[in-house]
Amino acid sequence: RFRLPNRMVELTVDLAALQYNFRQLRQYCGQKVKILAVIKADAYGHGLLPVAQVLAPAGADYFGVAYCSEGVSLRQAGITLPILLLMGVLPEEAAEAVAHDLEVTLFCREMAAALAAQARQQSKKVKVHVKIDTGMGRLGLLPTELMPFLESLGEFPELELAGLISHFAASDCCDRSYTHQQLADFERLLKGVRGRGWAVPASHIANSAAVLHVHQAHLNMVRAGITLYGSPPSLETPSPIPLKPVMSLRTRVLQLQELPPGCSISYGRTYFTDKPSLIAALPVGYCNGYSRLMSNRGCVLLHGQRAPIRGRVCMNLTMVDVTEIPGVKKGDMATLLGEDGSDRLTGDDLAAWAETISYEIYCMMGNSNYRRYI
Ligand code: PLP
Repeated sequence: RFRLPNRMVELTVDLAALQYNFRQLRQYCGQKVKILAVIKADAYGHGLLPVAQVLAPAGADYFGVAYCSEGVSLRQAGITLPILLLMGVLPEEAAEAVAHDLEVTLFCREMAAALAAQARQQSKKVKVHVKIDTGMGRLGLLPTELMPFLESLGEFPELELAGLISHFAASDCCDRSYTHQQLADFERLLKGVRGRGWAVPASHIANSAAVLHVHQAHLNMVRAGITLYGSPPSLETPSPIPLKPVMSLRTRVLQLQELPPGCSISYGRTYFTDKPSLIAALPVGYCNGYSRLMSNRGCVLLHGQRAPIRGRVCMNLTMVDVTEIPGVKKGDMATLLGEDGSDRLTGDDLAAWAETISYEIYCMMGNSNYRRYI
């Protein structure tokens, strides 16, 4: 319900900035490397369809989503680019995946059999990207399992090997030794597979951090997520290319209270005024994806200046101290994420206060508020 438009909270998605970030990536990777735009989780909170509708004409080669239903939504909206289901499918989703020409990340025999059966029934072929776990400790076949698995696929002529996929565990760390080890293992396996006569049209392992910092890992396709949305993958490794933030969150001052020293603010009485204070109540809280971990830690921008959060962030309200900011009035705009005057609060700023990463900030905010596209 709070995702209906409301005048108190405004989440904006800047599609021109999204397009700018894609173009930066394209220039950086060159024309020969395909770019798979990762638009799972409703495009990291930015909106699956609006984002796809900008990135397809901008030159994305592939889309990557988590769930079959996301792929189906893209097809129903008229997206014709290849779409890869990054987590594979359940057997009961195979029919839908085949019917909508979705490509599938494959890592088990049960999935292969279900896809092949559906493809046979629908007189189609299914493109699969076999996933190898080269050290992420998450999803995929172990390196020793790869060759026997590929050989067993001979049983299913309906499956077409479209790619080999792996994922880095630590490409966003300064120390890249583990990343280079994973890359070397992936390349060795790739060579082995090609050496046995299999064509592997797409080989891909690079996420944003590797796109930006490990050129050798681009191979012939990269999978970029967070950089599209304007944030570096981690603060440890700043982006070598300029990126523009895409999401902003703004609200308005709902009430101002002049409080004497010694007053407590919000639930649990975790903050007490230490001087005469002017406290602004903002109609945004954790139901808007504004984490309760920001309590007494984060700040917002008002008149281009930083107003610290006082007390606990509530479900729909957050209090900030505007004592030091002259002229604040009821109805004034407050920026929780984004630019105001010469200052800006980034996804990484909020992530530091909420002890998380910008990815989670965008998912939480973007998927909890009505989005306005500019
Ligand atoms: N590839 C896979 C398999 C992923 O799960 C993700 C994101 O989590 C990405 C690529 C994109 O990562 P990033 O947003 O760091 O570019």
